[in-house]
Amino acid sequence: MRAVKLTAARKLELVEIAEPGKEEINVIMDVSACGICGSDLHYWEMGVGMDGKPGLIPGHEFCGTVADPGPRGDLQPGDRVTYIPLNPCGVCPTCQKGLFHICQKAFTRPIPGNNAPGAFAEKVAGRADMVRKLPDSLSDEESCLVEPASVALHAVRQAGFRVGDNVLVTGGGTIGLLSAAWAQIAGAGLVGLCEVNPHRLEYAGNWPYVHEVFDGRDEKLRKKLKQVSDGGFDAVVETSAVDAGLFTAMSALKPGGTVVLAGINFSAQSVSTLMFTSKELVQKGSMAYAIDEFDTSLGFMADKRLDTAGMVNCRPGFSDLQETFERLHAGTPEIVKAVVRP
Ligand SMILES: [Zn+2]
Ligand SMILES: [Zn+2]
Repeated sequence: MRAVKLTAARKLELVEIAEPGKEEINVIMDVSACGICGSDLHYWEMGVGMDGKPGLIPGHEFCGTVADPGPRGDLQPGDRVTYIPLNPCGVCPTCQKGLFHICQKAFTRPIPGNNAPGAFAEKVAGRADMVRKLPDSLSDEESCLVEPASVALHAVRQAGFRVGDNVLVTGGGTIGLLSAAWAQIAGAGLVGLCEVNPHRLEYAGNWPYVHEVFDGRDEKLRKKLKQVSDGGFDAVVETSAVDAGLFTAMSALKPGGTVVLAGINFSAQSVSTLMFTSKELVQKGSMAYAIDEFDTSLGFMADKRLDTAGMVNCRPGFSDLQETFERLHAGTPEIVKAVVRP
């Protein structure tokens, strides 16, 4: 079958590989579409997967149809499905607490597109209990957004705000936009979004879930944030993973406010500890999502309470992927979300 393989740093190549073999615990799916995620870009830059090994077939935000249902008696060949790219061990102390999404052993267990063959391929195999049936109301492209929407849902839940509270999102990429959406759905009084890129600012300005956009380059930014939020935001979801975003997040918070770190930066970041202590801020991490949060996202998207129409605006084929990654790496801001089809 055709697949796109990471053959070196910054090098994706279209290759012929063997189809996934039938294993007792797996469902085999024909890939219909697969989103390109920030972590895919990171793997591309490094030339290796999550396990540090070369030769990865990326792609974990996918949907497809069942080719072989394996042990899933409730699935038929041809059923439309998506997949939860988590592989918790189920037995470690973290898993036993129900925190499957932060199972530390999962990083070394096979997860399609991270350290096992992913969905930049015609077929992909994955553990049977992570396969979810798709309703007809979700298009293939929308189905690829269930996974990032779950990431955003978890981040917003980590913020723990109440109905009517003011919430700021820093960073206007896919996770930022989806976090803003969940904040509004969850009843935030004001949802603000701060971004520095003019294209993203424009997109966020038209995104129906954002009440107010803030230009991160504005010299009067801090003053404006304070004015609009009547003295400070109750919670900030920080998705930019850059120091400037983190600084904006902390300065925008009211005393006692909560910042959720939802972006991923592999290097150390600097923070003003003075701002943390003087305002007694709460800092929470956010990693992936609980399994039921994936199902919640799927449900909200299926009945359009979370409507992601228009978010996918880049549709490469397999042979265009290298070029698409080059554009994403160069910071091509026009791309909101890219989805590839075999
Ligand atoms: Zn992802
Ligand atoms: Zn575990």
